[in-house]
Amino acid sequence: MVLVGKEELRQVYGTTGTTGKPTLTFATKRDLDMWAERNGRNLGAIGFRPRGGYFYEGGGYGLATGGFGYHYGAHHINLTVIPTGIGRMQQKLELMEDLKITGTGGSSSFILYMARVASLLGPGMACECERKEGLHVWSDHMLVECIDSDTGEWVPEGEAGELVWTFLVSEAVGIIRYRSGDLSRIMPESCPCGRTSVRIDNVKGRVDGGVSVGGFTIFSSQVEDVLFRFKEVGSNFRCVIDSDQKGLDRLAVDLEVSDRSLLYDEKKGADFSKRLKDSLQSVLGVTPKTINFVEPDSLPAATDDQLKTSTVRIVDRRRKD
Ligand SMILES: [Zn+2]
Repeated sequence: MVLVGKEELRQVYGTTGTTGKPTLTFATKRDLDMWAERNGRNLGAIGFRPRGGYFYEGGGYGLATGGFGYHYGAHHINLTVIPTGIGRMQQKLELMEDLKITGTGGSSSFILYMARVASLLGPGMACECERKEGLHVWSDHMLVECIDSDTGEWVPEGEAGELVWTFLVSEAVGIIRYRSGDLSRIMPESCPCGRTSVRIDNVKGRVDGGVSVGGFTIFSSQVEDVLFRFKEVGSNFRCVIDSDQKGLDRLAVDLEVSDRSLLYDEKKGADFSKRLKDSLQSVLGVTPKTINFVEPDSLPAATDDQLKTSTVRIVDRRRKD
């Protein structure tokens, strides 16, 4: 995809790599400036105002786009950044207090908010405004289309389909009609905030059966790959996703066992549960809150067709808004 000489490239970034190796993409100096501009607009749309404020950047600094994107965006609208990265919560709280920050990129509510639109936020493609009625797409930088995943044809404006992105101002790489796999719709009405850019609805799911949990897209095939490495595991499993009291995503795994002693031997069950949680975390990025062992043949078995769409193996009990 790279369109320029290596000497023109200034940054590499990539996906989280949960389904294998990270997909890499590249940026020139101009791309970084454009990226900063989009994220600056995003910060503006959610209420940050230039100068006099500290923007506390708690997101991850790494290959994924969140950390650096918002760092650059904050500079673009003349905010002061505190680049703390992940962890050390107490130190963060003290810094927030001492420097009297006016806005944060690290509180749980902000992370929760970001998680809802995580697949769109990284490269600064779209963002909610203060009205919270869908996401504004910066149409002078991005072209968004909405298609029927099976036929590839446009769906009528307002109807649900798969989002397809074209980067209009990208210099280092050519990204033309990139199929996101995200299900949403283009909102035909204009936004009460007065911004005239195209709006899309919150992402409602994935065409490939993946489901977003705490900002990570997980697939039942990934869970299957991990679980079936263990001989103690039986034939069927089910991932159940719901929300805890704070509204944060919570993942539980119901699992048939081939070794029935796991059902009544508490110590053995707890040890095995811990091993499974660690293995799942390293692949999914998310740690299941609980693993429930159940009798063999007590969960629905998935047919080949259903395996493709994960409907039997992923149960989403979150409230949809
Ligand atoms: Zn708006």
